[in-house]
Amino acid sequence: MKKTTHILSLLLSLLIILPGQAEVKNIYIPDLDQSFPFAGIRVQEPPDDVTMESLDASDYGLLVMGEKEPHYYLEKGQDTQTPVYLLDSGKPGPDVYILAGTHGDERAGWYAAHVLQGLVPIAGRVFLLPRANILGCQAVNRHVKASQDLNRAYPGNQKGDESQRLAHAIYQDILRVNPVLVLDLHEAAVFTQGRDFLGNKLIFTNFTGMEELFFDLLTAYEEATLGRKPFGFVSPGEKDSLNDVLSNQGGIPILTVETFRGFPLSHRIQDQVDIVLHCLRFYGMY
Ligand SMILES: [Zn+2]
Repeated sequence: MKKTTHILSLLLSLLIILPGQAEVKNIYIPDLDQSFPFAGIRVQEPPDDVTMESLDASDYGLLVMGEKEPHYYLEKGQDTQTPVYLLDSGKPGPDVYILAGTHGDERAGWYAAHVLQGLVPIAGRVFLLPRANILGCQAVNRHVKASQDLNRAYPGNQKGDESQRLAHAIYQDILRVNPVLVLDLHEAAVFTQGRDFLGNKLIFTNFTGMEELFFDLLTAYEEATLGRKPFGFVSPGEKDSLNDVLSNQGGIPILTVETFRGFPLSHRIQDQVDIVLHCLRFYGMY
């Protein structure tokens, strides 16, 4: 990216954090063939059409098996302590690891993960970490503490700050499980001319180990059968993100799901759930 563009986007970011300074303008997004209201480079979310309390797995096409007990906790005893759920079919099959809530303001991801607790796979096991950054989820905030970004802290550090310790715990847990696929559920709100638009995207760094799934998803994109608006691909993952490090160092296939915060919340949750189910179906798990 050109330096001038970078400076410009920094200035624009500054503008949007000054309340009342940025006017709201409709901006056309070619990838989605639709206009959305933006304050600076950040889209304005429509009013919530669903609440966390009202989420019902059956509304999203899932069986409901009641409240599940966590299988174990990461960072137990810390204020970043967060539960991992095991959705076990009891039958042989692959393991898939799903995490959400890395960025607490990207609610559709972790709301979808909450709904997915009602998932009953028909083969294999799903490890589900619904609120990776539980402090961020509680505060509906991107960060763990101060300006710590969990998704720039991988592979983490046991002796580092909260986000680095959390990243270490998550990364080691994924390596231990050694799943065939990791799905990392996020959302995008920013649009900058000349930069990759991340809304309605699947991010990959390389597709080693998930070649067939990748082409299956590519077909779904071309046939517009996945998502209310088609999901495209973008690559690679940001440096020091889970996507980057798990692909380049861990050798485990990972897709980062990005819904767009310009759409209604219920649509974004449904898209997140549908992508997860699509991938599980591909592996014969749903
Ligand atoms: Zn994110």
